[in-house]
Amino acid sequence: MNTKLHCLVLFLFFGYCVKAQDTLWHHKKCAVVLTYDDALDVDIDNAAPALDSLGLKATFYLSNYTETLDTRTAGWRAIAAKGHELGNHTYYHPCLGNLPGRSFVTPEDDLNNYSVLDVDKEIHIMNTLLKAIDGKGSRTFAYPCGDMKIRDSFYLDPIKNEFTGARSVRPEMLHIQDVKLYDIGCYGINGESGDQLVSLVQKAMDSHTLLVFLFHGVGGGHSLNVSLPAHSQLLHFLKQHENEIWIAPMTEVAEYIQHYQSSSK
Ligand SMILES: [Zn+2]
Repeated sequence: MNTKLHCLVLFLFFGYCVKAQDTLWHHKKCAVVLTYDDALDVDIDNAAPALDSLGLKATFYLSNYTETLDTRTAGWRAIAAKGHELGNHTYYHPCLGNLPGRSFVTPEDDLNNYSVLDVDKEIHIMNTLLKAIDGKGSRTFAYPCGDMKIRDSFYLDPIKNEFTGARSVRPEMLHIQDVKLYDIGCYGINGESGDQLVSLVQKAMDSHTLLVFLFHGVGGGHSLNVSLPAHSQLLHFLKQHENEIWIAPMTEVAEYIQHYQSSSK
């Protein structure tokens, strides 16, 4: 290849890359999804008001072992009405009880004692409950404890079509073409400073990837916790850089990824 032609090919290639990056994530540098697990009181009392004060939308993965679906139904309905996603995190939150650190898993909520049909029925019932609360037909799932299998079976497989995507718990930031829609990784947060949370976002901006945060306690409410100042610092950083960062509930981001991946095949 002569030098002129070589330069032209390189020019077109880099031009294509810049163009492709330009249109990704709604013309922003990266996508960030804020997720809050386990239907804690602090979601309603701390997290949602902080998000709403800045107009940011998130996903709350609800399970009812905390019983707040009963005790705070109006609160969840109000959160959904503000544009947040109520995600499905099963009703009883079953996890594998035979792994290290799982002494909190009771025999009746041990995934080892479930069949695939058992857990799928539970997830389907939870979807019906969530729809009764928010009236929405699109949502994502989060695997309790990140456990995706019962023995050798991926338990979500038979009912995957009820969801636009599913979140696991592996920390990773992936390019859009590499995201596995039913195994979306995330960063579980416990005790990080505001600067540390912001630096994760900066890394996603630099790498043009998807970053998912997983919070439990926000200003208390769970042994895995983020302080209110650290959480606030993260949200303010996201708001200040809203023109560079796409911040949306998981189901919107999953639909976007699904569309991108199916149209680029
Ligand atoms: Zn959970």
